[in-house]
Amino acid sequence: MSPNKKTIASFSQNVERMAERAMPYINLEMPPGLSKQILACNRVFQVQFPVRMDDGEYKVFTGWRAVHSEHRLPVKGGIRYAPHVDQDEVIALAALMSYKCAIVDVPFGGSKGGLIIDPGKHSEQELEAVTRRFARQLIEAGYISPSANVPAPDMGTSSREMAWIADVYKTLRPTEINYFASVTGKPVTNGGIRGRVEATGRGVQYVLREFFRNTEDVKLAGLKPGLEGQRIVVQGLGNVGYHAAKFLSKEDGALITCVIERDGAVVNDKGLDIEALRQHINEKGGVKGFPDGEYVEDGRILLEKECDILIPAALERQITGSNAERIKTKLIVEAANGPITFDADQILNAKGVVILPDMYVNAGGVTVSYFEWIKNLSHIRFGRLGRRQEEHQGRLIVEAIETATGKEIPDAMSQDITAGADEIALVRSGLDDTMRLAYQEISSVFHEEDEISDFRTAAFVIALRKIARTYLDMGI
Ligand code: NAD
Repeated sequence: MSPNKKTIASFSQNVERMAERAMPYINLEMPPGLSKQILACNRVFQVQFPVRMDDGEYKVFTGWRAVHSEHRLPVKGGIRYAPHVDQDEVIALAALMSYKCAIVDVPFGGSKGGLIIDPGKHSEQELEAVTRRFARQLIEAGYISPSANVPAPDMGTSSREMAWIADVYKTLRPTEINYFASVTGKPVTNGGIRGRVEATGRGVQYVLREFFRNTEDVKLAGLKPGLEGQRIVVQGLGNVGYHAAKFLSKEDGALITCVIERDGAVVNDKGLDIEALRQHINEKGGVKGFPDGEYVEDGRILLEKECDILIPAALERQITGSNAERIKTKLIVEAANGPITFDADQILNAKGVVILPDMYVNAGGVTVSYFEWIKNLSHIRFGRLGRRQEEHQGRLIVEAIETATGKEIPDAMSQDITAGADEIALVRSGLDDTMRLAYQEISSVFHEEDEISDFRTAAFVIALRKIARTYLDMGI
């Protein structure tokens, strides 16, 4: 091992250190050793399997599924496809899932899967064969099922892979009436729920809206009130980064002044057109050549660009002990999992940068996955029973007002009053409510418990308290 390697903490060590830092503040009487059980990853399954590629050659793939905590079942967490995935990463992400679910009151334990593969280098046919084989191995080993372990999309996977996994589950368990609930993030046409694709990015938007409703927290960060005109730098314009950036710029008037991608960064201090940029990336494979911004080849350096809000939405360990000191933002909203290392976190806290932590900020995905799982178990679309009844009630109200006042309510207002809630409206309402309540809980622990001086520790304290309480109530 090189001398340098010795000093760099792994992703799971970073998560564990952050959790350990919060442990003294949970103020629960616990039997000795319980805190170790809460932090420990219960199980990791590793699998290697061959798949025949389009050219006839066999390729061997390696994948994992880690189960961090089963204090609630099923356990939940995405499956990541990336060339750099390893066991440590999957363990770290599974732990974050346990804490995340506890923070947003989603009744699941934490799990995560990963497969070493570069999806961009495979045909759709190869990806389907690989996914089906991986899913089969996980199902047969008990690592996918509606009642025990429910995957979802993560980096490098999408609704397409989830549909393949659900299909394998249905084939292997033909009498399981709840087979759709074996995986979430599926296409709407195949057991999915409206609003799941955008959910994590939408959740990031709701987090920021709630943050700006809390004037004390806004002042603490040294920001001016309101999201409008805030200068935002986003790293990663994938599922999470794209939706967050699009909603924040189009619906809240924020300026996305820089997007950092794999091949470099693009800067426009007047605000980038996010949909046009995404279109450009889809067509050209990167941000280079985007006409409406200045291209910078060394993208990572732009994490240090002066801005109001920095949203890392790509991958872990991007802000480390080596660049944290040079970060010039006032607020970091961790849309990615683990973008800040433990060392960097300490440096940024000392600098007074406010950090809203990953396990809260990106919980929108698992929250809407929870709604999808409930929909699958109940076998009915949200809103199907009540929508027309709500419309009818609305019409009665409009008629009553018009009769009583002798005046006609304008059409647009009347339409708003008479609209019954459909699935997407209910999903957004549930997500907004979840993100707001969790924010208020974190913010009040941060403000009311003197020894807690950052939002991450406050979030960990909440998660650890809830998980510990479960263990204490049920015993081990
Ligand atoms: P994605 O694969 O859709 O997007 C990732 C984006 O980051 C891509 O555009 C990619 O080109 C870019 N990227 C990769 N390496 C980069 C680098 N070195 N510098 C800059 N950009 C780089 O993945 P995603 O689903 O958007 O996930 C992003 C992060 O959010 C991950 O940490 C993931 O675990 C987390 N997350 C995702 C979800 C979800 O619902 N998808 C939920 C919770 C958390």
